[in-house]
Amino acid sequence: MTNLLPGKGLKNKLLVREVGPRDGFQAEKTPIPTELKIAVINRLGATGLSHIQAGAFVHPEKVPQMADSATVFANIKRQPSVTYSALVLNQKGAQRALDAGADAIETGLSISNTHSLNNTGRTSAEALEEVRRTARLVRQSQTPLWLNIQCAFGCAHEGAVEARAVGEMAKALLELMPDWLCLADTTGMADPVLLNRLLDEVLPIADSTPLLLHFHDTRGLGLVNVFAALQRGVFGFDSSIGGLGGCPFVPGATGNIASEDLLNLLQALGLVQKSTVFAVADVSRFLAKALNRPLPGKVCNLPEE
Ligand code: ZN
Repeated sequence: MTNLLPGKGLKNKLLVREVGPRDGFQAEKTPIPTELKIAVINRLGATGLSHIQAGAFVHPEKVPQMADSATVFANIKRQPSVTYSALVLNQKGAQRALDAGADAIETGLSISNTHSLNNTGRTSAEALEEVRRTARLVRQSQTPLWLNIQCAFGCAHEGAVEARAVGEMAKALLELMPDWLCLADTTGMADPVLLNRLLDEVLPIADSTPLLLHFHDTRGLGLVNVFAALQRGVFGFDSSIGGLGGCPFVPGATGNIASEDLLNLLQALGLVQKSTVFAVADVSRFLAKALNRPLPGKVCNLPEE
């Protein structure tokens, strides 16, 4: 095969984190029945994916769509090969997620003060203090900890974000020894030039901590960014079945990159099996039928092979 990617043993480093059951469902205006969430997670667990963000333990009044996450965790059929993680914003949420049996805890902060205040009522600096307290709690329980920086590529309210500032925040989070560090393009503003600038700052300090990238397809650059990241040796990506997603606190933040479209690209590069692409596209079709509308993903809307 033509060598489009650097390094060896890439399959081992590859990680696709399915965020549809959290990022995707959270953006849905009509409440999604708990049974449907469980059915989607169970189907995703059987596709060959290794990581599913299965819910969030956040304020139920702020994010009503995630209010049933404990019930979801209690009723999903767990596959031993799959990590079922939960997103939290503070210690209290982390404790609830641990009690519910989440296999990994994800938390983080927004580099944009405006987004941070809208999302959590805290400035970025205050949020960092809460991340430190939350990380301590999660570490005590020996549960894997994943940290993320939201709005790392720009903010709908504040505009451009300095790569240097993201680098400094990454440094503060890396001191907490996360298992993964995620840079999130919450607002869909990333492009390969911005991405390379950011990776120039973060890769040298990340050392052995693997990076995960969270792209939205707001301007159609989602998979272009993925390819640019692969060429820099970054092999962790968030995606959402059917391309569901957005952020209720960011105007115009449309869907995540669709999992089946991401997997289709990774399959073309020899990194995943074709069967996984088909299986995930099947789940998207199941979900589209249940939601009674077509989903924005490309591969799930092709005629079945
Ligand atoms: Zn997102």
